[in-house]
Formats: sequence, C-alpha cells, structure tokens
Amino acid sequence: EEKAAVEPLVGAVVQGTNSTRFLVFNCKTAEVLSHHQVEVAQAFPREGWAEQDPQEILQSVYECMARTCEKLQQLNVDPSAIKAVGVGNQRETTVVWDRLTGEPLYNAVLWLDLRAQATVESLSRRLPAGSDFVRARTGLPLSAYFSAAKLRWLLDNVAGVRAAVAEGRALCGTLDSWLIWSLTGGARGGVHGTDVTNASRTMLFNIHSLEWDRELCGFFEIPMDILPSVWSCSQIYGRMRAGALRGVPISGCLGDQSAALLGQMCLQEGQAKNTYGTGCFLLCNTGRACVSSEHGLLTTVAYKLGRDKPVHYALEGSVAVAGAVVRWLRDNIGIIETSKDIEKLANEVGTSHGCYFVPAFSGLYAPYWEPSARGIICGLTQFTNKCHIAFAALEAVCFQTREILDAMNRDCGIPLRHLQVDGAMTANRLLLQLQADILHLPVVKAALADAAALGVAMAAGAAEGVGVWSLEPEDLAGVRTERFEPQIQASESESRYAMWKKAVTKAMGSVP
Ligand code: ADP
Repeated sequence: EEKAAVEPLVGAVVQGTNSTRFLVFNCKTAEVLSHHQVEVAQAFPREGWAEQDPQEILQSVYECMARTCEKLQQLNVDPSAIKAVGVGNQRETTVVWDRLTGEPLYNAVLWLDLRAQATVESLSRRLPAGSDFVRARTGLPLSAYFSAAKLRWLLDNVAGVRAAVAEGRALCGTLDSWLIWSLTGGARGGVHGTDVTNASRTMLFNIHSLEWDRELCGFFEIPMDILPSVWSCSQIYGRMRAGALRGVPISGCLGDQSAALLGQMCLQEGQAKNTYGTGCFLLCNTGRACVSSEHGLLTTVAYKLGRDKPVHYALEGSVAVAGAVVRWLRDNIGIIETSKDIEKLANEVGTSHGCYFVPAFSGLYAPYWEPSARGIICGLTQFTNKCHIAFAALEAVCFQTREILDAMNRDCGIPLRHLQVDGAMTANRLLLQLQADILHLPVVKAALADAAALGVAMAAGAAEGVGVWSLEPEDLAGVRTERFEPQIQASESESRYAMWKKAVTKAMGSVP
C-alpha cells in the first residue's frame, strides 16, 4: 500500500487549569490530525487555596503525547512527521523544584490561589500610598494573582523550599518552565527557560527592558539565580529527551492567552479576542506600544515571535471564574453531571428569572481587583430552581466579559465592533447567544475552539531552525467561523447589566 507524501506536522501541548491536551496540526492546512485531552485534578486544601501536582501534570503531558501518536498511527500517519512541539500553559501558576532530584518541593500554587493575600498586604505597606513601583515596571497591580507573591509565600512558609534555595538546589518557574525543564532532560541536563509572555505574569519581569528586574527581585526578596532564562516565544529551547516524541525540538513557548491571541490571528494593533476556559481573558493587541490602562486592565507582553523579532504588547482584562463556575456546579453542588449539561439545564427555562450569580470565588479581578469580594447568588424567590441558577451562572460569564469589554473600549478609544471568541466553553451555544445579547454586539466563534493550540503550533513551526509552518495568517483568518447576533433590544441588555452591577456591589467586602 502506498503512503501519501508525508507533510510536516507540528504538535502543541496546551497545559490548562482544567485540562492538558496535545494536538497535532498539518502545517500546510492548519488542520488538526489527532489530539488527546486529560482532565487534571485540582486540590483545594483550605479556603482560598488551589493546588495541582506538578508530577501529575508532567505525566498528563506524556500521556497526551503518547495517545495522540497512537491515534496518528491508527490513521496510518507516522508520528516521525512531527517536526516540532510547542508548549502553551496556564500562566502565573508557580512551581519550585529540586534540580538534583528533579522532584517538586511543593505542589504547584495555582494562579487563582489567594493564599498570598496577607503577603501582598504586608508588601504593599512597604510602598508609599499610590506608588506605581510595581505597575510601572510590570504592567500589573501588586496582587496575590501573580507568581512573585506565590513564590514569596513558598519561601516564607515551606522549609523544604527555603533549604533548597539556601543550598543552591532550587529552581523555580511557571508551568512552561517546569514542563520544558522536565521534558528536555530534567535532573540530567534539562533546559531552564521561559518565554517573555509567561515572564510578564510573574511580577518580577520588566516589560520594557524584557529582563528580570533587579529592584523588583530585591523588593520581593527573590534570589535571581532560581529564575529561568527568558527567551522569545518562537525559537528552539531544547529537545525532548523521553516519551513518544523523543528527539523532537521544543521550539514554541507562550502563555495560553498569548497563544490564543495568535491562534485567532489577532496580529494587528486593535484586534482582540476573548477565551473562555477556567477563567476568561480578553486581550487586545496594542502592537509595539506598551499602553497602560486607566480602567483596571493589565498591560502584558502579547508575543515575540523570534529572537530578533519585535515584541508586541496587549491590554488584558482577566476574569478569574468563567468555566470554573460550571465545574463548581458539577463538583460542589452536583446539579449537572458534565460541564456541557449546563446548556440543557439553562435552556429549560431560558431566563434567570431575576436571579444574579456573582461567582467571586477568588475575589474579583478586572476591572475591580478586589480580593475581599466573595460569591453571591441573589434575587432568589420561591419560584427559583436549579435551571435559573444554571442560567444565571452562564449570564455571569457574559456580564463579566461586558465589564472588561467596556473597560477595553474606554482605554483604547476605538470600540470593538464584534468580539472574537474561543475556548472550551464556546461549545456552549446558549453562552454565545447570551454574550451577543449582553454585549449587544456580534460574537464570532473561532473555527477551532482551542485557538491556543493553533497559536502554539504556529510559534513552534515557524521557529528558526524548524521553519515548517508555511501558512500566512491571512490564510487562516475568518475560516469557518460562526456569528451570533444580538437578539434582544439594547434597552434590555442595559437593564440586565445594571442589575448585575448592583449584584456586584453586594459581593464586595464579604470577607470580614
Ligand atoms: P483550561 O484551559 O482552563 O484548562 P478548558 O479549555 O479545559 O480550560 O475549559 C474547561 C472549562 O470550560 C471547564 O471549567 C468547564 O467546566 C467549562 N466547559 C467546558 N465545556 C463546557 C460547556 N459545553 N458549557 C459550559 N462550560 C463548559
């Protein structure tokens, strides 16, 4: 039997909060040939804490690669056609490990973990009131969300971490660093690197000079020798030393939200996308300009596609809880069995019947940055049932997006005329219709829900020394997208949004 000419393929690891996946793309068509996905356990050992096991995450990556390669073989495609692999990851989540044993010294502290709140409060007292010391360098507010606060907490509270640092055995990083170090050999010579997008979420990285900031490291008392080297998003980091893809170069690395921006082809200034995963993240490409927000948005590195390529920046609106509220209704309340069931449940009533659900489980992020907010469900009556609550949960995701889109429009001056969306939750058609209604704007769904994976593959395939990604962004823009038009009057959008805002005021300051 004659085999078809082998076209180069590129693999993308996306290590998200909820799941790890591996997708293999054809570089000529951007078509997904095969993929595998594994949900990752999350531990909530105390109120406000959220952790994952770095070893489980690493194994999930190997498993996804192995299973995807098996599926390729079943399709009669030789996995040796995979010429490069890229890594995209949940951002900010922090790991410290021992470079001699290769073992993590503590669980990964997740981005939505609030344990460093007290650390942040005591640090902020060391700064003059209204100081922009942190924001001017990093584009970020001083918050427990970002890695430096988590790392400071680990150094203060975990004896094993402190000892390893003192003995020069500790390495730290975001999940991209942990994975790349482990995949390229770990204790037997792993590469300790990260990319500019992940680095820009640590609160230790100067987004203007694109280097670790000595004064910030001093302020947080983080020893600089435990930090990874910082590279561009598209270059060869090293080669896989084990697993199904042993020998293949890792040549792409980006935070998942940057990857989705790329995968949605938002490469021009003013182009924006919103990704609905565990959280929800709206990023607008601001080109070479580092724009600072007046309305509670973050300034972040969008991407740098090669050692000698220019850096692009983005304004970002971050929402901590989007899909997480669906997972919560599944795991903690038990009104659905699988995430997708929420659509059917909410469709049974087609309204929240005046019920508003503010899922401020981790405080509120953009545009409020209020760590003391907590979740509430209000407007309940004798008539309210689980279907209304399911509906209110979906609406909450849409209202939160509306808040960041409004902030984005005020900062950018040029209002967005439609919203490009992606992420696992975009499988939910009711959500997208509600989003169009609440924004009173068309919502355009990406052809591939996992836009982050496409962005990772593009970065890895285009790297110097790999050079197999041969599509132009224009070839991909706008293919097979679906549009959702607003179906309610603008006045109704406004009145529901006003009620949401009222509910938000009730969620504020719920922590004594
Ligand atoms: P991450 O990138 O954070 O790992 P995923 O892309 O795996 O997240 O998205 C999973 C999130 O989306 C979960 O929180 C899940 O509850 C939610 N989700 C997935 N499918 C649906 C659906 N059809 N309707 C609503 N929520 C969904």
